[in-house]
Amino acid sequence: MITQNIASIRERIKRSALLAGRRPEEVRLVAVSKTMPADRIREAVAAGLRIFGENYIQEARDKASALSDLPIEWHFIGHLQTNKAKYAVRQFTLIHSVDSERLIAEIDREAQKVGKIQDILIQVNIAGEDTKSGVEPDELYTLLETAAAHPRVRVVGLMTMPPYSEEPEVVRPVFRALKTLAERYAGVIPGTDLRELSMGMSGDFEVAISEGATLVRIGTAIFGERS
Ligand SMILES: *Cc1c(COP(=O)(O)O)cnc(C)c1O
Repeated sequence: MITQNIASIRERIKRSALLAGRRPEEVRLVAVSKTMPADRIREAVAAGLRIFGENYIQEARDKASALSDLPIEWHFIGHLQTNKAKYAVRQFTLIHSVDSERLIAEIDREAQKVGKIQDILIQVNIAGEDTKSGVEPDELYTLLETAAAHPRVRVVGLMTMPPYSEEPEVVRPVFRALKTLAERYAGVIPGTDLRELSMGMSGDFEVAISEGATLVRIGTAIFGERS
């Protein structure tokens, strides 16, 4: 089942990239494995997936230790509390959800301790929803400046999570706005590279790819509904 789902998603990613005049390799699939047990992840790795996105630190640590024999690249996509930055830096290649100056400072401190440069994305709350994490678009510049002042943190792009909608076309403007922001700030702060755009989930990843997504975060369409 997982194997078939992955094959079909890969095909859809490829098709939407080509339709948008993009190379399919520009789009990386992040398999969102929150709440899924380690053996389902093992199955997905056997089917060829390498990047897994997790939302909760403790759950992610447990799975990483159960799956330490596998070549997995872990991405953190959930809300990160400052006091958990330590664990995030130790496990994750990319943190998608950075949205405060305090968190940047803490990630920098922890990365320094382990001798790492931590790649991060800044999460932007494009639609201005109260319930969503992320900085407002007009706070983005300040956060990019803060990150640039912390040598152990490297911003590689932006992430967004649009308001829930059954209709993927409804969220297209959100994806387009994230791309526009990335273009506006690219190169404005030396050393800040905004080439990665983490946007698009099971219900809307094709639209996100047509608007420039380089990382799509897909859970349900791979693993089925979460209980
Ligand atoms: C759960 C989650 C996803 C995956 O959503 P699906 O609809 O299951 O594909 C993507 N991004 C974030 C931040 C999530 O929390």
